Amino acid sequence: MQLETDVLVCGAGCAGLSAALASARNGANTLLVERAGFSGGIITCVGLPFFDGIARKSDKKVLVRGIPLELLWRMGVCEMGADTIYKHNPTIKNIEQFKLLADELIETEPRLEVLYHSFAVETNMEGDRIGEVLVATKEGLVPIKAKTVIDCTGDADIAQRTGTPIQKSEELLPMTMHFRIGNVERGGDLRTPCQNALLKAQEAGDLGLFYGPGLSFMFADDEVYIHAIRVLGDASQVRSLTQAEIQGRKDAWTMYDYWKREVPAFKDAYYISSGPYMGIRETCRIEGVTNLTEEDVRGERLRDDAVATGCWYMDIHPQKTTLGSANEGEGFQPDFYDIPYGSLLPKKVSNLLVAGRCHGADRMAASSSRVSVTCMAMGQAAGTAAALATDEGKGVQELEGTQVRAILEAQHAGPYREG
Ligand SMILES: Cc1cc2nc3c(=O)[nH]c(=O)nc-3n(C[C@H](O)[C@H](O)[C@H](O)COP(=O)(O)OP(=O)(O)OC[C@H]3O[C@@H](n4cnc5c(N)ncnc54)[C@H](O)[C@@H]3O)c2cc1C
Repeated sequence: MQLETDVLVCGAGCAGLSAALASARNGANTLLVERAGFSGGIITCVGLPFFDGIARKSDKKVLVRGIPLELLWRMGVCEMGADTIYKHNPTIKNIEQFKLLADELIETEPRLEVLYHSFAVETNMEGDRIGEVLVATKEGLVPIKAKTVIDCTGDADIAQRTGTPIQKSEELLPMTMHFRIGNVERGGDLRTPCQNALLKAQEAGDLGLFYGPGLSFMFADDEVYIHAIRVLGDASQVRSLTQAEIQGRKDAWTMYDYWKREVPAFKDAYYISSGPYMGIRETCRIEGVTNLTEEDVRGERLRDDAVATGCWYMDIHPQKTTLGSANEGEGFQPDFYDIPYGSLLPKKVSNLLVAGRCHGADRMAASSSRVSVTCMAMGQAAGTAAALATDEGKGVQELEGTQVRAILEAQHAGPYREG
């Protein structure tokens, strides 16, 4: 098999799904490849229902419109084109339904095709451009030619294969496996006894690091959704990632066992599910033509070439156990700031865009821009830019951020501005 398309999007997560939809809706023939058997990325691969970064903290004003807001509307969370939303970090009520929605949106786009169980693993370069991306499938390695490639793998997999400069912090944010426990009695303070049970497990040497424990009755009245696991490692290395999956599963069951033994509300509880994948917060980011910096976030910097808005706090998870909060101290909370087009452009490859948590940003800036909605907004910008490049017969590096922004704004998306 050999495939050819205008735009190839690698990874159908928060950024990738938005990128593929934006590219196809703007007229480019688009192919989306995803290693899992479904779209959604962190939402469906890890089981995360939160749409952080959609609204301003102070007044819940919606700052990010476009595809992320459309997804919330289609999931029944808000009105179409809502100006404000009920919560700073709204949630969707059913993860499985999100898989279905993503499939439906993809299938209704005539210019968009998705290939699941397709892992983009290598690039063949032609000078400074990607000639082909090689995708591992059940049919073997499939070469895909594209005018523009968008890397939405979260880990900058494609960018790394091209040899473009990458940034990686010495200390990586810990990984977390999310899991769900059913038949839990609701009422009273669950957090304190659950935390005490985890401290006991830690003292006994049965559990390593943890945080929170974040327990919420998210999906049903007798079901808790838990984010408490804290595993260290480097998810861009296969051995380390494998160990993290094993450790995460073990820790989830240890927590469940201790709670069942120690906390009366869990007496008749049962373990529902985890994953299916370990949640990875941080691996590699590109060196962008422009990098978003900590100063940009702290200074709430606005710029002409903005293509998306960020508004989440600097959300650093430390490499230690933290009780209550996931963070140590308060992370800086901006009102909102701009994400420049140049942060989606790697330095040395002329037909590659990178969107999502691996865009060009320093570690502190990325701790804010990595949240789901901000990644979706970057994806929409990247897809729009790729379609514009196809239409104009140009490389994505030749486009001005202001051109991309103008299209986004005409489509009621792009960076937020007061008034
Ligand atoms: C445990 C955890 C908790 C978090 N909590 C929150 C929260 O509460 N709220 C919030 O807003 N954000 C949260 N985040 C952050 C945020 O959700 C992610 O950073 C964001 O979703 C990243 O979006 P993305 O599109 O870059 O990556 P993802 O959504 O992870 O998508 C990447 C996609 O690419 C696919 N893929 C990877 N490599 C390849 C390849 N080589 N070929 C093909 N496909 C590939 C993956 O299967 C996946 O579908 C959390 C992150 C983690 C890990």
